[in-house]
Amino acid sequence: MRSSEAISIYFNRAADQLDLSDNIRRLLLTAKREVQVRIPVELDTGEVETFIGYRVQHNNARGPMKGGLRYHPQVDLDEVRSLASLMTWKTAVVDIPYGGAKGGIAVDPSRLSVRELERVTRRFVDAIHDLFGPDVDIPAPDMGTSPEVMAWIMNQYNKYHGFSPACVTGKPVEYHGIPGRDEATGRGVGSLTLKLLSRLGRRIPGTRVAIQGFGNVGSHTARFLHDAECRIVAVSDATAGFHRAEGLDVLELLRYSQSHAGRLKGFQGGDPLTNAELLALDCDVLIPAALGGVLHKGNAEAVRAPIIIEAANSPTDQEADAIFDRRQITVMPDILVNAGGVTASWFEWVQNRQHYQWGIHRVRQELDRILGESFEHVWQLASSRQVTLRTAAYMLGVGRVARATVLGGIE
Ligand code: NAD
Repeated sequence: MRSSEAISIYFNRAADQLDLSDNIRRLLLTAKREVQVRIPVELDTGEVETFIGYRVQHNNARGPMKGGLRYHPQVDLDEVRSLASLMTWKTAVVDIPYGGAKGGIAVDPSRLSVRELERVTRRFVDAIHDLFGPDVDIPAPDMGTSPEVMAWIMNQYNKYHGFSPACVTGKPVEYHGIPGRDEATGRGVGSLTLKLLSRLGRRIPGTRVAIQGFGNVGSHTARFLHDAECRIVAVSDATAGFHRAEGLDVLELLRYSQSHAGRLKGFQGGDPLTNAELLALDCDVLIPAALGGVLHKGNAEAVRAPIIIEAANSPTDQEADAIFDRRQITVMPDILVNAGGVTASWFEWVQNRQHYQWGIHRVRQELDRILGESFEHVWQLASSRQVTLRTAAYMLGVGRVARATVLGGIE
């Protein structure tokens, strides 16, 4: 199943609950604009290579469109389209004044030199600079892109439009970024996990957590939950995986990953385990924080954790989702769980526009407040309508976008 089809199924389930007409469903599901551009770039060798870049602007009923930019060889229009719609529902679930968008370039960044990557990024901005901007569509980092890439985007955009730091978020702190953006998604994953555990009446200290992915999201999540006295019993990344029933030494893992180019291979503080073993581990909370589509009908029956926290985008396909529902495994959905990143991006945009800096404490405080309130809304809706947390989150997000569409006028 294509990822956009799975999201349409979740959307339609919520739309049924909300009693939305077919015409409004079609309007909400259809992207406002989809752009594909050619990016010819001279490599360091003097050869010319042509990359394909995408930007899908899904919906702006609630405000300027917002979403990351992904550099990955498998980026295609279908993936970008589904991630763009996910952003529309995500910004609405946490009620920040944005719509949804997503972009990507089909490129393997590890194959290019820094200068080549910079040229690819600047040429992409040359191609689409008229189509995004602070009041229109604001890109941010995603898989394969970094704060440095965001700095190049801002710099290139400024050449056309003058000083506009709010044209992109996730910038380096020294270059109009904000402290706390880096940790925000993982902090949000961690704080929402604690809220769910409390709501389910479970004791937090000693909770056994397994995390797939130890990049930005996975590592900050591990740190946050470790500080909350959870036991991180397993972690994995693209290079290795480790298990320790008494809990891994998270600070040591962070140190190891930092001094080994972000990779865990070679870590000595746990027993090796594969990604398949991690997903099926006997633990209390499973957190996929790497790739999409990792939980599917081939492995959903093997999952033993009673709680799944979707830190990655679309880690559960629709068939696995149905299996988890039948098995009464509680799944907290991506559009709520990983919304901390876009929420902190909103803070960055607000500060850029005010030429003011809040500082880390206010960023954390506001983030915790917004995510906490959003969790309560989703939880209450799920309880009152007797639906899953995913359907409740979609109902909240889709309902807000539908109302804004009607209030603002159909266009
Ligand atoms: P990242 O590139 O920093 O880290 C990805 C991690 O996944 C790395 O540790 C990598 O080794 C690991 N990984 C890759 N392939 C793997 C595999 N086959 N098995 C196990 N691990 C594997 O990316 P990130 O920013 O941490 O994003 C992770 C996920 O969270 C993505 O789905 C992303 O779209 C989503 N997300 C990120 C943010 C954010 O603010 N960074 C916000 C919302 C959603």
